Amino acid sequence: MKVNILASGSSGNCIALTSGESTILIDAGIAKTKIEKRLLEVGITPNKIEAMFITHAHKDHTKGLPLANKYKIPVYAGENEWKDIQGVENDLVNKIGIGGVFGASEDFVVVPFQVHHDAHQPLGYTVTSYKTDFKVSICLDTGKVEEDILKYMKNSDVYIIESNHEPRMVEASNYPISVKTRVLSHVGHLSNQQTAAALTELIQGKGEQIYLTHLSSSNNMPTLAQLTTEKALMAKGFIKDKHYRLEVV
Ligand SMILES: [Zn+2]
Ligand SMILES: [Zn+2]
Repeated sequence: MKVNILASGSSGNCIALTSGESTILIDAGIAKTKIEKRLLEVGITPNKIEAMFITHAHKDHTKGLPLANKYKIPVYAGENEWKDIQGVENDLVNKIGIGGVFGASEDFVVVPFQVHHDAHQPLGYTVTSYKTDFKVSICLDTGKVEEDILKYMKNSDVYIIESNHEPRMVEASNYPISVKTRVLSHVGHLSNQQTAAALTELIQGKGEQIYLTHLSSSNNMPTLAQLTTEKALMAKGFIKDKHYRLEVV
């Protein structure tokens, strides 16, 4: 399975997963035309997209949903989450629950799991290829990663997880108190430390690929995110490029 992270961060998130001729998108948080352009840049024609799975309704995950109407792509999101998602033609709307299994195409098995974020029914997803058993876990906006989430994500070949902020930078920022409280809460976003802790539970040193995503542009730095996870994995005896690979996107 090929992973193309087309966009990451508070200005938009969009991930393309391709196996053979099939592509699915996880989130569509940049403008439709940008998604089309970035897909073409990585050799994917937009009419090959078989399904779109949305983590939650926030604009940085849904801005490009008009793409679904243009190419008649079915869109999947949590049943309650659809209260806040507009603009998708009725016959493309698919309301899903937690832990259901979706054969998005001939090759993909998609399993949604509950995450913790200030939305009606935010989801993470695992995507596994029937043919190769290759597994990708996607855990974006969430205020915490608890045992249940780890159970879904474990044994993946690729982990795409947010490493949103450095708490001290949030504290020192000029964000209003209400925003600071929200970001740092259990329904906000993962700090570098929370992400590192989750990855130490998940990584087994078998060459897994980690993508740290959705970094805050004002309250984080790529090197800080990377070093926090590297240091935590080092304490468990795992060395980057030997036991696992890591990229900040
Ligand atoms: Zn969000
Ligand atoms: Zn987001």
